[in-house]
Amino acid sequence: MSEKEMSGKEKVLFSKATNPSNILPKKLTLESKIKFRCHPGVRCFTACCGGIKIILTPYDILTLKKRLDIPAHELLQQYTTPVYLEGTDMPGVALKLTEGDNRCPFVTPEGCTVYTDRPSACRYYPVGMADFHEGQGAMGGGADHKDEEKFFFIVKEDHCKGFEEDKEWTVAEWRADQGVDVRDEMNKEWLRLVMRRKSFGHQASLSEQAKRMFFMTSTDLDHFRRFIFESSFLDTYQIDDETLEKIKNDDVELMLFSFKYLAASLFGAEGLPIREDKIQEKVKEIKKRQDDSVTQSIEDYKKIKADRGEKIDMDLDMK
Ligand code: SF4
Ligand code: SF4
Repeated sequence: MSEKEMSGKEKVLFSKATNPSNILPKKLTLESKIKFRCHPGVRCFTACCGGIKIILTPYDILTLKKRLDIPAHELLQQYTTPVYLEGTDMPGVALKLTEGDNRCPFVTPEGCTVYTDRPSACRYYPVGMADFHEGQGAMGGGADHKDEEKFFFIVKEDHCKGFEEDKEWTVAEWRADQGVDVRDEMNKEWLRLVMRRKSFGHQASLSEQAKRMFFMTSTDLDHFRRFIFESSFLDTYQIDDETLEKIKNDDVELMLFSFKYLAASLFGAEGLPIREDKIQEKVKEIKKRQDDSVTQSIEDYKKIKADRGEKIDMDLDMK
């Protein structure tokens, strides 16, 4: 069994209510040593698989649906509950805890039944990660953060007996053992979207349509694939054949593409070119709207003057 706590990065999203005083005030590097082991012999085994909120990332959903061999919509319906991603108006999902005992639907007395495909949030504890760029809306330039901009720390829950075990690792060894590096890579762009949104605060809320799009794209890749190939999507965006082939057949490629699409549609990021004829169409449409609005203003003005019985002495020719 491994765990469900949050790294510094995931604290933003994976909002298990952790007492900040459980974070040990020591900065660690990848080479720092930690003493910890979690296994079925610990007294607290699976104690941390209940009473928690485990947010699922798109990659978590992808791996869980494959593991359970069910379509995404069934996974969502059966095992998740809708949530807002912490600090944002972005809708997402968390694992739905069982009624009554408030436990993860995948936990048994013998341990986690989806262990090798457990969600990202279950993999981080007790090593948290902080990134100096987080506070600045970490997705800014889209560049990868260098290792030296990150540091690690230990989260130590009182009930967790794993710290009493006699096993020593470096932080790097622990992360590799938990498969965290792969998850970090897969979740990176999606987390950046959410953190970017979070940095907006309450200044501007997403439209309902944008929220629906974010939710569909983040939770149901089968649906997103249909959206690409069965709507006017490809009339709007210019996607090369090689990419099209990849996203048609490969779920991970589709997921990575979906992050690009969301970055472009929610934040106007570059990387997903719109077809030239669509741009011209849009320009025409905007120009027509502007012309219509000027015409309307002139009509309104004339009417007001006429109502007052005044002479209109302005030349208001329309272009
Ligand atoms: S998915 Fe597995 S590791 Fe995570 S909370 Fe559930 S049972 Fe525990
Ligand atoms: S040792 Fe810690 S992480 Fe492992 S089951 Fe116990 S509480 Fe959870």
